[in-house]
Amino acid sequence: MKIKDILAQDKVTLSFEVFPPKTNLNYESVEKATTEIAQLKPDFMSVTYGAGGGTSEFTVDIASNLYHNYGVNSLAHLTCVSSTKEQVHRVVERLKEEGLENILALRGDLPKDRTLLENAEYQYASELIYDLKQLGDFCIGGACYPEGHTESANKEEDIKYLKEKVDAGCEFLTTQMFFDNNILYNFLYRIREKGITVPVIAGIMPVTNGNQMKRICELSGTYLPTRFKAIVDKFGDTPDAMKQAGIAYATDQIIDLVANGIRHIHVYSMNKPEVAAGIQANLSEIIK
Ligand code: FAD
Repeated sequence: MKIKDILAQDKVTLSFEVFPPKTNLNYESVEKATTEIAQLKPDFMSVTYGAGGGTSEFTVDIASNLYHNYGVNSLAHLTCVSSTKEQVHRVVERLKEEGLENILALRGDLPKDRTLLENAEYQYASELIYDLKQLGDFCIGGACYPEGHTESANKEEDIKYLKEKVDAGCEFLTTQMFFDNNILYNFLYRIREKGITVPVIAGIMPVTNGNQMKRICELSGTYLPTRFKAIVDKFGDTPDAMKQAGIAYATDQIIDLVANGIRHIHVYSMNKPEVAAGIQANLSEIIK
């Protein structure tokens, strides 16, 4: 089923994200974790794509397994900035062979020196989206950044390019993680005002490794509310306590989002079935 049709239903949706193995060696353990999450029967699951495309086969394999063997709609991520058109087209052919019709089209992170290669065949996600539209009957989503993408001069510029991405054929958007819901509400107001009307799926990260996440957020400029910092400061070095607190914080965030009319929640469950299950159980009467 196409993600846009799932999002059009009259219900709140809950989806989970997993990532593919880096090598054949851990394929089985990743497959086990992803299928355990699939057994929770989320509305769909997304499967990330390794930067540089090295694990592209695994993304398609995992997405196909979830769909065909567990009956869960899957969304395969696909990045483009480090790939040639030929490489991208090969992945698209495999998606078609496997009967997968949903793609999250991304640029991917830039190489370490953060410059776009002059001879790159794709510079931005919108070019990939345009290309994918010509290649098949796919439902295509894209990423968005409530706090602005790190490379953007300001939020206004970022939203201008986001509009271009939607105009290129992006049918829904998934947000980068955020820890203060007001940031999402403000972002939605701004993008709707600029004529971006596609469904926006709120991306929620249950933090299970507090200190690592705090460093990542400080580097990327993600705003950390005082309440969140206090939790990480207190429990960041105690994994089980951090996991419990992280699940509780994410649950609170989701309840507030749903109470304020947000209809689509995507949990960055990071191959952790117990985290996905914990959140789903906490919401059992709220998201059915
Ligand atoms: P774009 O939409 O191309 O935007 C990138 C930057 O370029 C932004 O600053 C934008 O404002 C600017 N821009 C866009 N168009 C133009 C233009 N025409 N001229 C000038 N500037 C422009 N990475 C992975 O490697 N694998 C994954 O599976 C993955 N999944 C993700 C899922 C989500 C929900 C999110 C939020 C991110 C994900 N990422 C993933 C990270 C993503 O690849 C990076 O954030 C990347 O830096 C930007 O990708 P994008 O598709 O948003 O890029």
